[in-house]
Amino acid sequence: MSGAADFRHMTDIVVLRQAVHGLPIEDYAAAIRQALPDREVALARTPAEERDLVGRAAVATGLDFDEDLLDAAGDLRLFACLYAGVDHLPLDTLHEGDVAVTTASGVHAPNVAEHVVGAIVAFSRAFPTAWRQQERREWRHVQSRELAGSTVTVVGLGAIGQGTVEALSGFDVHTIGVRRSPEQGGPADEVLGTDRLHDALAQTDYLVLACPLSEETEGLVGPAELATLPTDAVIVNVARGEVVDTDALVTALQHEDIRGAQLDVTDPEPLPEDHPLWGLDNVFVTPHSAGFTPAYYERRAAILAENLRQVAETGRYENLRNQV
Ligand code: NDP
Repeated sequence: MSGAADFRHMTDIVVLRQAVHGLPIEDYAAAIRQALPDREVALARTPAEERDLVGRAAVATGLDFDEDLLDAAGDLRLFACLYAGVDHLPLDTLHEGDVAVTTASGVHAPNVAEHVVGAIVAFSRAFPTAWRQQERREWRHVQSRELAGSTVTVVGLGAIGQGTVEALSGFDVHTIGVRRSPEQGGPADEVLGTDRLHDALAQTDYLVLACPLSEETEGLVGPAELATLPTDAVIVNVARGEVVDTDALVTALQHEDIRGAQLDVTDPEPLPEDHPLWGLDNVFVTPHSAGFTPAYYERRAAILAENLRQVAETGRYENLRNQV
C-alpha cells in the first residue's frame, strides 16, 4: 500500500456524519480541508454515503466505526477517532483488517485540565453549597477550605493528566501521578506505578481519574479504594464512568466516607433521571462536557494533518501520533 503512485488515493479522507458535543460536523470537514488543502475531503451525511465513501477512502474520521462499516471498507488504512477514549471501537477487528487507529488524545488536554481545576477549586471553596443557598435566597455562613497544601493524585498521566498537573502548578498543591509506566515520569511531584495506587490514595485530598477505560481500569476505584481514601477526599472523574464502581461510590457518598465527587462521566450514561447520584448534595454532575472546547475540530484536524504528512513521507501507517 505504499509508493508515490498510490499517494492521492491513499490520503483521500471521509468524514463520518456523527458530530461531537453538538458542534456541526461540517466544521470538522472544513477544518481538515484547511489543514490539508491539497487533499480530497468528503463529508458523508447519511449512512448510505458513509458506506459508499468508506469503500473508496484511505482515511476515515469520526466518532464510531462499527463492524458493518468495516465490511464496507475497501482500501481503508486509517480510522482517526474523534474521541480520546477508543474503548467503544472494535479495535481487534480494525487491526485484523489492517486499519490503523488513532485517538484524539491531546485535543482535550487544556479544557479538561481547566474543568478539573474548576471542580477542585469549587469543592475547596464550597461553591456548590453557596450556589444552593443562592437558589433559596439564603444568606448564611459557608465554611470552605484552602486548596494550598492539599495533595492531588492524578491517575493517568497522559495528555489530560499532565495538562491537569501543569494547570495546578500555581496552587501550591502536592501532586502525585499514577501511571502504568512510572519510569516515563511526568510533571507531578511524585510519579508512582499502579501497584502503589493505595499508597497514593491514603494521602489524597483530591483524586482525579484521567486514565482510559480498559480491562485494568474498569472498577479501579471500588470499595477497597474508597475505604483507603481519607474521609475528606473528593473524587473528580473525567475518565469514564466505569473506572469507578458506581454502587460503591453511591454508598461512600451517602455515608460520607468521602467528602464528595465531581462526575463528568457516569456509569451508565446518560445518568437516568431516577439515579441516586442526582439527589446527593455532595455530588456535582456535569454531562460528559469536560471534553468540550470550541477548538475541538481544529485541534483534531491538526493531529490528522500531522499524521498524514508523516504517511506521505514514509508510505506507512505506523508509529503515528496517538496510534493505538
Ligand atoms: P492518554 O492516552 O494520553 O493517557 C492515558 C494515561 O493513562 C497514560 O498516562 C497511561 O499510563 C495511563 N494509564 C493507562 N492504564 C492505566 C492504569 N491501569 N492505571 C493508571 N494509569 C493508566 O489519554 P488522555 O490523557 O488523552 O485521555 C485519558 C482518558 O480520558 C481517555 O481515554 C478518555 O476515556 C478520557 N477522556 C474524557 C473526556 C471527557 O470529556 N470527560 C475527554 C477526553 C478524554 P502510561 O502512559 O504509563 O501507560
